[in-house]
Amino acid sequence: MPATRIFIVEDERIISRDLQNVLESMGYEIAGAATSGEEAVGAIPGAHPDIVLMDIMLKGGMDGIDAAEKVRADFDVPVIYLTAYADDTTIQRAKITGPYGYLLKPFDERDLSIALEMALYRHRMENRVRESERWLSATLGNIEEGVAAFDTEGLLVFLNPHGEHLTGWPAAEAGGRPIEEVFVVVPASGDTGSANGVKLSFAGMTGSSLNDDYILVARHGGEKRVEFSTSIIRDRKEAVSGGVLSFRDVSERKKAEEELRRHRDHLEEIVAERTAEISAANEKLRNEIAERKKAEKDLKKAMELAESASRAKSEFLANMSHELRTPLNSIIGFSKLMKMQVGEGDFAGYLENILSSGLHLLKIINDILDVSKIESGKLDFERTLQRPGDIIGACVAMMTVQAAERGVVLQYRWDLPDELTVHGDAKRLQQVFINLISNAIKFNRSGGTVIIESRIDGPMLVVDVTDTGIGIRKEHLFFIFEKFSQVNSKLDRDTQGTGLGLTISRMIVEAHGGRIGVRSVPGESSTFTVSLPLCTEKARGDREE
Ligand code: ADP
Repeated sequence: MPATRIFIVEDERIISRDLQNVLESMGYEIAGAATSGEEAVGAIPGAHPDIVLMDIMLKGGMDGIDAAEKVRADFDVPVIYLTAYADDTTIQRAKITGPYGYLLKPFDERDLSIALEMALYRHRMENRVRESERWLSATLGNIEEGVAAFDTEGLLVFLNPHGEHLTGWPAAEAGGRPIEEVFVVVPASGDTGSANGVKLSFAGMTGSSLNDDYILVARHGGEKRVEFSTSIIRDRKEAVSGGVLSFRDVSERKKAEEELRRHRDHLEEIVAERTAEISAANEKLRNEIAERKKAEKDLKKAMELAESASRAKSEFLANMSHELRTPLNSIIGFSKLMKMQVGEGDFAGYLENILSSGLHLLKIINDILDVSKIESGKLDFERTLQRPGDIIGACVAMMTVQAAERGVVLQYRWDLPDELTVHGDAKRLQQVFINLISNAIKFNRSGGTVIIESRIDGPMLVVDVTDTGIGIRKEHLFFIFEKFSQVNSKLDRDTQGTGLGLTISRMIVEAHGGRIGVRSVPGESSTFTVSLPLCTEKARGDREE
């Protein structure tokens, strides 16, 4: 352990010298020496002594008490006075400077040693207390809790910064006031026996207690929910020396607790409400399902009725057509024969009229028969592998004369491989293309053109029949494939159509797994498009087997 360093202030050099020798012989180290107050004040900072021995009566303007005052104010060094005089005034003056000892000259070595050790011990202890005070005040200053201390009279002696914040009282103003004036609380329950605040009567306090639901009314009126606890402070002899009050803001926590309680209280209500809602929704759903099932049943019944009515109608039409065709064939046959025999003249014109009317009637009957057969599912398609190029080519050849008669040019293009095939009924497919080409000629103008061209689109063969005729108005396009639809009434009457050709064509194409469509620019052109599924290699192989 390093030796204790002592600074000596003594104006008698001999005494100073002697003192130094004595101290050194006792094992102390001399940090320095001065003979006047001014010299001492100047030298002590650089000498770093552990203790100063200060003579009171010094030569010069500054005596030992002044010098000690200065040293104590600037540095934390304990001072022991050495003096030959001990009058009351001097002692009173010296006391104010808080000396650590007071030795009367002449002194013996034992007194000196005891005084030095006592002073050093006291200084160390004081430093330790100061240090723990610093820790305490830093701790109290930083905690999120209000802390107030009060004495046995219940008067406030300490209030930390958070306590200042919660009560609205600055510590300096609150100090010395009754604790219940600074810390005003009422029970949050509202049943207040002490509306003016809880009496923090110190007399009633025996130990520590926790009070968990109060409202703290701050100095200028703000309110906060707090919980606080009080405990008494006892000295070493177990005598009560004061009390400590600690309090914290629990407004947020209380709010959350209350919210939770409210939710809990309402939970059952909410569950009952939701359950009722769900069962109402279930009931509604059950009714809806029952209604839907009933509607489905009704619909099925209606469909069955409609289907059987349609079947009955188709059968009736098929029978009627047969009955009508027999006499009609006689009329056509005999009028042809008569026409050949009468030659030229009025009767020839009449007979021509009978013949063309008969043929038109026969076409109508045949078409009606076709439609009803297809609708009643009685038309059997004789499907075989067909080259579509051949079928369309034959149709074009058949229509050449009709086209020439009306001054219309037929253009047929087939740029696809010949070996392409479709699986279908050749006669029925021909019926489709003849109808389309025939319409394209009928509804064309003299000098017009009909172009028939084909392409492949994915798995389908697509055939376009385009004319340069009268076109079809947009509003008519929607029902052109419906039965008996004739949209150009005057022309239709002249051209003697039945309004069933396109209906039959669509039925045939769809029965072959294909589609038929139309687009048109009124007054310019129409294009009817037929797409039919092509046979793949595999399908072809399967069918040929
Ligand atoms: P129709 O035997 O009367 O020709 P369709 O079913 O074949 O019966 O045709 C129905 C109607 O559609 C025709 O009467 C005609 O008004 C119209 N139509 C058909 N093809 C064409 C076309 N290429 N150009 C203009 N109108 C057409």
